[in-house]
Amino acid sequence: MPVPGLGGREVEQRAKFAVQPHPAETIAVQFQCLESRADVDANSSWEVCVYTDGSKIEDKVGAALSIWVGGVEAKTKKLSLPSYSTVYQAELYALCEAARFAHNSSRSTFGVFSDSRSALETVADSGSAHPLALETRSHIKNSRNQGKIINLYWVKAHAGLQGNERADQLAREAALHSKRKPDYDLCPVSFVKRQIRDQSLREWNGRYVNGEAAATTKVFLPDAIAAYKIVKDLGPKAVLTQVLTGHGGFSEYLYRYKCKGSPSCICDSTTEETLLHVILSCPVYEKNRFDLEQQLGCKLAKESIKEIMADLEKRNGANLLRRVEPREYKRTETEI
Ligand SMILES: [Zn+2]
Repeated sequence: MPVPGLGGREVEQRAKFAVQPHPAETIAVQFQCLESRADVDANSSWEVCVYTDGSKIEDKVGAALSIWVGGVEAKTKKLSLPSYSTVYQAELYALCEAARFAHNSSRSTFGVFSDSRSALETVADSGSAHPLALETRSHIKNSRNQGKIINLYWVKAHAGLQGNERADQLAREAALHSKRKPDYDLCPVSFVKRQIRDQSLREWNGRYVNGEAAATTKVFLPDAIAAYKIVKDLGPKAVLTQVLTGHGGFSEYLYRYKCKGSPSCICDSTTEETLLHVILSCPVYEKNRFDLEQQLGCKLAKESIKEIMADLEKRNGANLLRRVEPREYKRTETEI
């Protein structure tokens, strides 16, 4: 099925077994967590220290490297990613670029610092088939074959570590201001899933809104997508379901299915006892209705029910079901 919004872009998938290294050639990659400043200082004496970071701001994604030699920043690299990328991808891509830099560099010892534990864990996991993890590991392996040393470190974000702060700043700049073609643009599976889900929801909602069924439900919940959150918040209950569908202990409904001799309400033999009659106009429940309207601060009408349902405060503050008569529901519940 074509996925809208993807523009024919390639989806990021697990690397195929054929392109993964043979188990005998798998290398062990570890990272060390540097919790304190003293830990960081004790592990910063490499020829080159590469600080990496990824950033997602207002749906803009970027990553960056801040490369330090001899205690000063010698080089920076900003990386651009498309808006659908995740921060995790940005962090992982920055690590991959750091490993690539080490592989291509003429220097021989490197410390790579990232504040993304999940990205480091993916790189260190020899079973991970994430394409960026595999590429990173491949650069590390090639570097080791050249006699280089690459050490990976996790550092705390926003802890005042100069290199990390600098990489954070560069990644933000890359996210907000980069106008060039993305350096890495594979769509994360989470984005594709969200697109498919949104498309399904829109299609379902279109059928619901334009269809003839569920007339009573639409009085309460005119939009199926908004309804999902409201019903989840209310928590489905037997009586609530009867109210929201009109399929329950109401004479008109019971009569329709030959469960009751007459569709009329106890208030008037010529009036059908429908759900809306009970809630909006039946004189039997006038006091309950009055109390509820006082609490809601608005008149109960067919047109206002959907607004009450959409208003979290009103919805939770005034329990519609509790106020519009429990006795009648109890009686009719046993009938169905
Ligand atoms: Zn009535």
